[in-house]
Amino acid sequence: MGPRPGLPDVRPAALDVVRTTLPLVAPFATATGTEAVREVLLVRARDRDGHEGWGECGALSHPGYTGEWVDGAEAVLRGFLLPAALEGRPASVTGHPMASAAVAAAVLDLRLAVAGRDLPSWLGAVRDRVPAGVAVGVAASVDALVSEVAGHVAAGYQRVKLKVRPGWDVEPVRAVRATWPDLSLGVDANGSYREGDVGLARLDGLGLAEIEQPLPADDLVGSAAVARRLATPVCLDESVTSLGTLEAALALGALDHLNLKPARVGGLEPAVAVLDRAAAAGVPVWVGGMLATGVGKAVDVALAALPGVTLPGDLPASRRWFERDLTEPWELLPDGTLPVRPRGPVTLP
Ligand code: MG
Repeated sequence: MGPRPGLPDVRPAALDVVRTTLPLVAPFATATGTEAVREVLLVRARDRDGHEGWGECGALSHPGYTGEWVDGAEAVLRGFLLPAALEGRPASVTGHPMASAAVAAAVLDLRLAVAGRDLPSWLGAVRDRVPAGVAVGVAASVDALVSEVAGHVAAGYQRVKLKVRPGWDVEPVRAVRATWPDLSLGVDANGSYREGDVGLARLDGLGLAEIEQPLPADDLVGSAAVARRLATPVCLDESVTSLGTLEAALALGALDHLNLKPARVGGLEPAVAVLDRAAAAGVPVWVGGMLATGVGKAVDVALAALPGVTLPGDLPASRRWFERDLTEPWELLPDGTLPVRPRGPVTLP
């Protein structure tokens, strides 16, 4: 993000890729793959005075959520994005928003460190806490799912999102809904349905807050047809990669809600532009996470504290994914929120 007033335009003296692996508390299965561990890909920016900045790449191990994955992101960082950023020139790289977002986040973090500023206040956060939420993967059985959700509800989560796919949808969702009639409950299909699939119609009427990304990312016309047909709001995630794709989705009526992820749109600056446009169009927005460590979560939480974000998202406490985070862990507050605060130091395992 270009420096706002008061932030020096620092060019890093060094930019490194830092990789580590954190065990996940449990594997996470979606319609597009299973993550067994978190392969963490970070960018570290340093100046000559001992300041450093960190950015986390959202890419997963497998290119299922989008086309990016950790090894590919590392290659594009080393080969193109970091050399360009060191020289202070545009990288002229098409695609790879998650890798690009990590560079931008590291450079911004360095600038904030030089200026002695913290991200939430600099960005313009208007809340000191944001609603937490939890995404629950495809489970081995309906009973196992209900048991897992029970753990999250007991921990204090007030917003739960279930991963669904054809064949794992109505029965598990109905079981969770029957157990917690008042829970704020959404589902996320990660693009696994086709427009006429009966599963979508059967999910309608279960009191869901939304159905996220029912159709493949590029099927905006189909998404508009689904949005017209279902009473349940349609939320887009993978489809909205830029301001341009948001404009297309708005023009077609392809979304009722937006899941905004800085990683998916190339960083905080484009994310704020997308947020502003969605808010101006009257589309409710929430901020979604990418199995982030505290490095990525700090950015997500700060974004979620901006005024245009009006829905609870799926940003969980650190322990949802990790026994030990890379930063001071984000803990769930008694009211089911996460604190909006500076990230603090990064400690590698
Ligand atoms: Mg999603």
